[in-house]
Amino acid sequence: MSEMLAHSGTTRDGFSWTSSNGMKKGNFTSKGVISPSERIRSPGDFVYDTIVVGAGYAGLSSARDLTNAGRKVLLLEGRDRVGGRTFTIKEDGFNYEMGGTWVSHCQPHTFRELLRYNMDKDLIKTRESGHANDYYTFALSDAPARHVSHEEAAASAAKGWNLFINVDGAYGRKICPLPHQQLENVQVDRKEVEKWDSYSCWDRFEEMKSQLNKEESDLLLSLLLMISGGNLHNSSLWDMIRSQALVNHEFNNFEDIWFLYKLREGQSALARNIFNDAVSNGLEYAFQTPVSGIKQVSNNLNHVSTRDGRIYQARKVICAVPLNILKHLNFEPSLSPLRQEAVEAGHINYMTKIHAVVKGSGMASWNGVCYPNNILYAYGDGVLPSGDAHLVCFGTDERPHFVPERDPAKILSALQNFHPMEVKKLVFHNWNTDPYSQAGPCFWPPGFMTKYQEELQSRHKNVFFASADWANGWRAFIDGALEQGFLNAQNVLNELRQEDKATLPGARSSL
Ligand SMILES: Cc1cc2nc3c(=O)[nH]c(=O)nc-3n(C[C@H](O)[C@H](O)[C@H](O)COP(=O)(O)OP(=O)(O)OC[C@H]3O[C@@H](n4cnc5c(N)ncnc54)[C@H](O)[C@@H]3O)c2cc1C
Repeated sequence: MSEMLAHSGTTRDGFSWTSSNGMKKGNFTSKGVISPSERIRSPGDFVYDTIVVGAGYAGLSSARDLTNAGRKVLLLEGRDRVGGRTFTIKEDGFNYEMGGTWVSHCQPHTFRELLRYNMDKDLIKTRESGHANDYYTFALSDAPARHVSHEEAAASAAKGWNLFINVDGAYGRKICPLPHQQLENVQVDRKEVEKWDSYSCWDRFEEMKSQLNKEESDLLLSLLLMISGGNLHNSSLWDMIRSQALVNHEFNNFEDIWFLYKLREGQSALARNIFNDAVSNGLEYAFQTPVSGIKQVSNNLNHVSTRDGRIYQARKVICAVPLNILKHLNFEPSLSPLRQEAVEAGHINYMTKIHAVVKGSGMASWNGVCYPNNILYAYGDGVLPSGDAHLVCFGTDERPHFVPERDPAKILSALQNFHPMEVKKLVFHNWNTDPYSQAGPCFWPPGFMTKYQEELQSRHKNVFFASADWANGWRAFIDGALEQGFLNAQNVLNELRQEDKATLPGARSSL
C-alpha cells in the first residue's frame, strides 16, 4: 500500500525570506507530507479499536505499535504532514530542521527507533571546525563584542551553570538521581522534590548571582532563557535540574547530547518510516483533518468529531496533541477540574528557531551568544552546496514585539548584533503562531510538575493522553514523545486484549 503514497510533497508550514522575494509562507518540499492525504477503507459506521489524534512522534509511534499488533487504527491529523513539532524541509540541496533536530544514544526510545529503521549509523554533525570563523563571539550587554575559543566559551558557560544548578552540593545528583522517575523514587522523598519544584529560575538566580561577574551573569541568563523559552519568573528551576540529570549531571555533556548529532536524511525521514511501517500493516488515516471533539457515548464507544463535520467511532482514543492545544478540543464528559486547570495554564516555552544562510563557508565553524537580543544563540551548522554557511539560531519569548514572519528586518538586525554577516536567506517555522502547537517544546512553570504531571498522564475514561509535553524522562524532546507513544499503545493494547478475552464465548469460566 505504501507504494501508492508519494515519497514527499509540499507543506503549507514554514516561512522563507530572501531580499528579492521577501517573506513567503509554505510551499516547501518535505518527506513528511502525506499525499494522497486520506486512506479510509472501513465503512462509515465502523468501530475502530483505536483512533489516534495527532501524527507527531507520540501519535505516530502509538498508531504504529497498535496497527502492527493487528489492531484496526485510524490516525487523524490536522496538518498536511507527519512529525508535528519535528519536520524537515529540503531546499537548496540542504535539510533544514524546522523543529526537533538533535538526537543522542542517551535517548533510549529515539535510539531504538533509529536502530529499527537502520538510521542509527547515519548521523551528521553540527559545527565542524576548520572554517575561517572558528571561534565563539560574546556580544553581551554593553560590552564590545569579543571572540573567544570554543573551549573558553564552554568553560565560561559551565561556571555560571554549575553554580546555578548546584543546589544540593552534588550538581542535582541528590535531588534528581533518576530523571525518568522524578517525583517518586527510591532515593528522594517526594516532599523534597516538591520543594525544589516550587522555585522559579529567578528565585535561584537571585540566590547565586553575587558569585558571577557581569559577563558570566549574562551568559547564564541567556542560556536559561534559551532553554526555557520563557522568562526567569515563569520558568521552573526543576526543569533545569531535570535537564542536568538527563545529561548525567555534567554540563560538559550538554553539547554532545543536546546539540551535536542530526539525522543525515532528516527527522521527516524517521517520522515517515514509522508512518509507512504502520500503513503497510493496515493503518487508516486522514490528514488535513483537525479534530474538534471527543465524546464518550457508552462504556466502550467513543465518537471523535472533525471540524469538517465527520464523526468516527472507536473503542479507545489516544489523544496525542500538545498541551497548549488541548483547550481547543471539546471533551464529553468534561475533563477533570485539575486537568482543565493544567490545560488552561499551559506551558511557557515560546522560543524562536531561525535558520540563516550566510555568504561564504567561514561561519560554519562559528558560534555566538548575544544578550539581550531577539536572537540569543547562533550556531554554525554545515555548508550548503552553494558554499554558503548555515546558521541555526534560537531566541526566547519575545512575542509582544517580535513576530519573525512579520519582522524580517528585526531578524536581520538581531543577527548583525552578533557579528557582521551577509544573510542571503532565512528559513523558519513560527511554532507560537501555529494553530496546531501554539508554543514550542514544553517547559513547565514552577510547581507545575508537582501539581499536574500525574493528572496529565492519567486517562480520562477511554481517552488516553500521549505527548512529549508530559513525558516521564525526556519531556519536551522527541524521546519523550516516543516514550509516551509506546506507553499509551501498550496500555490500550493490554486493555483491548482483556476486553476481547472477557467477551469470548466461555470467557467467564476461563477467567
Ligand atoms: C523549535 C524546536 C526545536 C526542538 N529541538 C529538539 C531537539 O533538537 N531534539 C529533540 O529531541 N526535541 C526537540 N524539540 C522537541 C520535540 O520536537 C517535541 O517535543 C516533539 O516533537 C513533540 O512530539 P509530540 O508528538 O508530543 O507532539 P507534536 O509533535 O506537537 O504532535 C502533535 C500533533 O497533533 C496535531 N494536532 C494538533 N491539534 C490537532 C487537532 N485538533 N486535530 C488533529 N491533529 C492535531 C499536530 O498537528 C501535531 O502533528 C524541539 C521542538 C521545537 C519546536
